[in-house]
Amino acid sequence: MQSVRRMLIEFMNREFMNPVVLMTDSSWHTPDEHLIHFATETGALLLDGMGDGICLGYSSKAAMDTVKAKGRTYLPVNDIYQFTNNTAFSILQATRTRISKTEYISCPSCGRTLFDLQETTAKIRAVTHHLKGVKIAIMGCIVNGPGEMADADFGYVGSGPGKITLYKGKEVIKKM
Ligand code: SF4
Repeated sequence: MQSVRRMLIEFMNREFMNPVVLMTDSSWHTPDEHLIHFATETGALLLDGMGDGICLGYSSKAAMDTVKAKGRTYLPVNDIYQFTNNTAFSILQATRTRISKTEYISCPSCGRTLFDLQETTAKIRAVTHHLKGVKIAIMGCIVNGPGEMADADFGYVGSGPGKITLYKGKEVIKKM
């Protein structure tokens, strides 16, 4: 990572204008290991504003047989190609390099959480995942939820047992 950073800074110092594609090969085996490898190696550089594209690959043939990433993403993951494609677009989205899908902001949940956060998030995703670029917050409680929704376009916040409040931006639009 340090070597790549130094090289890219040297490019900038010499005023090279060529686009740089960050190519990363993973030799790990499980989807989680690949995700972490790709995200740290390319994501960290993109967050620094370095790199114009990414190219993800595998140096281990065994990786081709071990794709089971259900629950990690709401997009289809039927083979290594879909897994790699989803991972690439997720890294670009997370680093704000390229927005290509709906953004979900969800609290980590705690003792105050008033509903099943994972189940509710999955239901909301199922009907909103086509809204490219829209930010939707799903927060477990009204105490801290609204303050932690950041710049979400819409918010779904638990406001009491069996009750939720819907937000559009920072404005309450419905209580139910
Ligand atoms: S928003 Fe509320 S429920 Fe969610 S983590 Fe914060 S305090 Fe807990």
